[in-house]
Amino acid sequence: MSAPGTDAKALRATVLGAGTMGTGIAQLLLQAGAEVSLVDPSEDALQRAIEGLRELFEKLHAKGRIEQEPDALMLRLRSGSDHGLIRGSQWVIEAAPEDLDLKRGLFATAAAAEPNARLATNTSTLSVTSIAAACPDPGRVVGMHFFNPPGLMRLVEVIPGVRTAPDTIDAAVELVRRLGREPVVAKDAPGFVVNRLARPYYLESLRVHAEGVPVATIDAALRGAGFRMGPFELLDLIGIDVNLAASESVYRAFYEEPRFRPHPLQRAMVEAGLLGRKTGRGFYDYSDGPQPADHRTDRAGPSDRVTEGQAPVFHVQGEGSVARELRAALPTTPDPAAADLVLDARLDAPPGHPGRPRAVLVWGRSAAVAGARLGFSLVPSPRGASRPLTVELMAAGSGPGDPEPAEMIAARGALAAAGVNVVVLPDIPGGIAFRVVARLFDEAVRALAEGLATAEQLDLAMRLGVNYPAGPLEWGQELGLRDVDTALRSLQSETSDPRFAPHPSLVRLAATGRTDLPEGVMEVPEA
Ligand code: NAD
Repeated sequence: MSAPGTDAKALRATVLGAGTMGTGIAQLLLQAGAEVSLVDPSEDALQRAIEGLRELFEKLHAKGRIEQEPDALMLRLRSGSDHGLIRGSQWVIEAAPEDLDLKRGLFATAAAAEPNARLATNTSTLSVTSIAAACPDPGRVVGMHFFNPPGLMRLVEVIPGVRTAPDTIDAAVELVRRLGREPVVAKDAPGFVVNRLARPYYLESLRVHAEGVPVATIDAALRGAGFRMGPFELLDLIGIDVNLAASESVYRAFYEEPRFRPHPLQRAMVEAGLLGRKTGRGFYDYSDGPQPADHRTDRAGPSDRVTEGQAPVFHVQGEGSVARELRAALPTTPDPAAADLVLDARLDAPPGHPGRPRAVLVWGRSAAVAGARLGFSLVPSPRGASRPLTVELMAAGSGPGDPEPAEMIAARGALAAAGVNVVVLPDIPGGIAFRVVARLFDEAVRALAEGLATAEQLDLAMRLGVNYPAGPLEWGQELGLRDVDTALRSLQSETSDPRFAPHPSLVRLAATGRTDLPEGVMEVPEA
């Protein structure tokens, strides 16, 4: 594979900071054919960066992933602590520690060393506008937020500050493309796109856990909904301390908006030194392969299957996305009396319990409040992704660790015999995956209403920045705006928690019977 942009006109760039991100950004620039100066006050950091880049290029070259000779790539790299190295650069990309005064000072120095350079900051949490204010020409300053590791993650958020000139934004987009990355242009608002829109994935999951659901169950449910990693596996990988810092920063920057409130469990884990994989224990214990570190265990197991006996048959009620998904995945009968299990996917299903074993969809409510003996939930697969169906089951009023009633055992057996992954939960309102996906969707609707970025760009950022199986906006539309709105409002009512209140624009759209988000505010990408 040839390096992107190698033939384009000569590019000279400086990277300030030779740590994790600066080294990765220098790698991309070198692979794109640039002359690169790497500047860091720490001799050790520079040494590590140079050795790391050489080893990486040798590995990539040996595997045939880059055509260029490692020596030729390294010849275009200069390094040192002297800011004179900045002279002649068209771009200065800053990846120094996350400290406003330090970044402001660096940008003032860089602008003085090379007044013609455009300046980019890789800040994750600081305001680009605020950093740019230290420069004589804030029009030349832009945010360029890479993801870790830059060599593997395709997304770069391009963040104009209030005074960033349009030609600087265009040049930043062009540079990102030249580096072989995908630019998403978004407003200078706390967390930009990904760090803000991903918050519910962790925070809602932590709250579900605090309601008594084991971490392994939550991870299984969200993997079942199509996410590559469950939230707790991911928290352990990222580092619980790193995630807490991101959560606290977004929470503070939004003036303590309750829906961004971090969870005390995160702080307790950090204070106990249980930071995840890097300390050998977080939500899972890694001393003997990943094992759940909590004492609660998953009763049914995420993929408990019964294979004996006759193939079961199901009767599905309702017309929404859940009913469609069930009909596509399960053997069904139009006669409820002939079914082993009736799956009632209507959000307005009448209470009561006719003759056959019956489970009622609990998007937005508990089974008890739905007036059913059994509840079920699932989130239909986004973008038609093929995967085994995962269904969450709960017995009305059941708490963590309660024995399963006979109906639950029968329903679980029938679903498992049909090849469905079954996750058994206490009777929490809304189940797991629906709550998390609905909160992700609502946060994306808010961002869209605020003009943070276009719908297409918001969705793209979430697919590339955190590998979501679909963008939250396209996913929410697939689930059905009206159903999600109804379910969020019943969650708000049953829990009395304002975090579930749907954004007014979602309420209005649902009230008018729309099935998609409006044009103009958003462009819906083709599935
Ligand atoms: P890091 O600690 O690995 O590296 C920072 C480097 O900056 C160190 O080598 C340090 O010696 C150097 N430095 C200190 N003072 C300097 C100065 N005056 N001039 C030049 N270099 C200086 O940090 P990192 O993880 O690479 O993060 C760098 C920036 O990127 C931060 O703003 C961070 O928020 C952001 N960021 C980090 C990640 C991530 O996952 N690590 C992801 C996206 C953005």
